[in-house]
Amino acid sequence: MEKLLPTILLAGADKNIHDELKNILKGKYIVVSADNEQECKNILSNDKIDVIFVCLNSQITDEFDFFKTLSKDDNYKNIPILAVVTYGDLESVSRAIEIGASEFVTMPFNENILLYRIRNVLAHCQQAEKDAQIKEMNRFIEIDQLTGLYNRATFYKKAAALIQENPEVQYCIVYLDISCFKVINDLFHTETGNLILKTAANYFMRAINARIGVASRIEADHFVLCVPQDTLDMDRLIRDLDTTIKSLGISHNILFFAGVYPVVDINLPVDQMCDRASMALSKIKGNYVRRYNFYDVGMRDRMLKEQMIVRDMEFALKDNQFTIFLQPIFRPETNEIVSAEALVRWFHPESGMISPGYFIPVFERNGFIVKLDRFVWEAVCKFLRSRLDAGKKIVPVSVNVSRLNFYSLDLLIFMLNLIKKYDLEPWMLKLEVTESAYTDNPQQLINIINQFKENGFPILMDDFGSGYSSLNMLKNIQIDILKVDMAFVREIEHSERARTILLMIIGLAKELGMGVVTEGVETQTQLDYITSMGSVDIQGYYFSKPLAIKDFNALFEKYDSVAAQV
Ligand code: C2E
Ligand code: CA
Ligand code: CA
Repeated sequence: MEKLLPTILLAGADKNIHDELKNILKGKYIVVSADNEQECKNILSNDKIDVIFVCLNSQITDEFDFFKTLSKDDNYKNIPILAVVTYGDLESVSRAIEIGASEFVTMPFNENILLYRIRNVLAHCQQAEKDAQIKEMNRFIEIDQLTGLYNRATFYKKAAALIQENPEVQYCIVYLDISCFKVINDLFHTETGNLILKTAANYFMRAINARIGVASRIEADHFVLCVPQDTLDMDRLIRDLDTTIKSLGISHNILFFAGVYPVVDINLPVDQMCDRASMALSKIKGNYVRRYNFYDVGMRDRMLKEQMIVRDMEFALKDNQFTIFLQPIFRPETNEIVSAEALVRWFHPESGMISPGYFIPVFERNGFIVKLDRFVWEAVCKFLRSRLDAGKKIVPVSVNVSRLNFYSLDLLIFMLNLIKKYDLEPWMLKLEVTESAYTDNPQQLINIINQFKENGFPILMDDFGSGYSSLNMLKNIQIDILKVDMAFVREIEHSERARTILLMIIGLAKELGMGVVTEGVETQTQLDYITSMGSVDIQGYYFSKPLAIKDFNALFEKYDSVAAQV
């Protein structure tokens, strides 16, 4: 049954005082009394006592020591003590202070004052209890229950306070992530994953030293620290962390990677500081040699640009902001334009012309390249059809086929439909494929390319020599044309090795019955070197940059008439 009245323990040997107090307290409180130390102990351990009255008149000796220890005992220290002292007895007053009494009442008793004191002491006590509960609740809300570190919200608050209160200190935000933590959770039990997280948390707690920094597990296997830069030694932090985690003896390589943002702008919200540290970390994801990376300003600009690209891409495609440029490919022997490569351009209404070097890698990451490539292919078909309709000569046009396309089951059907829709023939479209497509999934690429070849599309291998599997790919796929990576041409004047390799590539291609295009030819010297090596086609600024369709047509007409005269 719930206890309604508070219980008061009267402790002390003086029976008369007990009786007098019982009289006053009757009906208002439950009163129990103990006239020796042992009895006191029994009652305290069996009952819930709310207030202890201790009679401290000059006779007591033994019990006094007991009460002195009571105020230090964790089980009882929160029970308020009301000392009963005799008016004018200074010795008993000083004893009251010594035992840590909350209040004292003097004899002879004044009933009103006595009851008032009890109410005061109880109210004070309840408040203290409430405060303790709130503190415990706050702890619960602020702390990550698994690791005991601050959670995300608390970290943001504490780190902001630390940074703001110490403007003279240069702080760093360190964002840490475990590589392949999901794999660890899958391979082992969740408890193993938890053990790793707890061990790392302990390590961070020790490493940062609570007086100078704060640490948090902000989600899953992501930790952040806010520490003064002059106490931060990243090599050591990672090395010691490795040692600590290795000591767990888990048979899997568990590696932490980190991004560091040195807090330059102390008014930046802490969540954005964490984003910057995380961005620095994302730059070394998958690179097992570098374990940490510092944020630099360029990263933010690049991120904003990338966000803009992703935000605007779908609309841009509908809004016709993408167009094709054509870069002619020349045959020096006959001084003819023998082909062209379609290269996409983005005319953004605010940012102006954006180079494919910026947006193609973004689209390759988010998959939009598949849509854009199809748009480009169709634009090329329209171009060819319009020339044919005007009764003009055409040359085959190369289109880039980004590796992601090879995951679409309808790639060949799409191309065949295009050819049909614009009444073209497959030889008019050459497909430029890079080695990366082959590295991704060789068998699938071999199958698809073979189907394209069976349907009459010429296949061109782009950037030949820039990767590692070039020769392998040549062995397994029937390529029609090799497009030599620009790097060889760039080196041709200075490097004997580059010249030798280029010569071998040209020889090899001839041997295998393939055509060769060299890309990136910018100077007469480069051209001379190349033409001395054999008959190859040339794509490069020396002859022409990529041109808008109108300009390409004009140049084509000019060359064609020259060729006709020869
Ligand atoms: P890529 O396929 O290797 O295209 C050749 C790039 O070299 C083009 O850059 C071209 O303008 C440039 N180039 C040509 N001659 C010279 C020269 O003499 N000197 C120098 N320095 N550069 C030369 P662009 O148009 O900026 O395209 C860059 C890359 O973007 C392309 O490299 C290609 O990987 C990609 N790309 C462009 N358009 C498309 C497209 O429609 N689809 C796909 N998937 N990728 C595209
Ligand atoms: Ca290309
Ligand atoms: Ca190329």
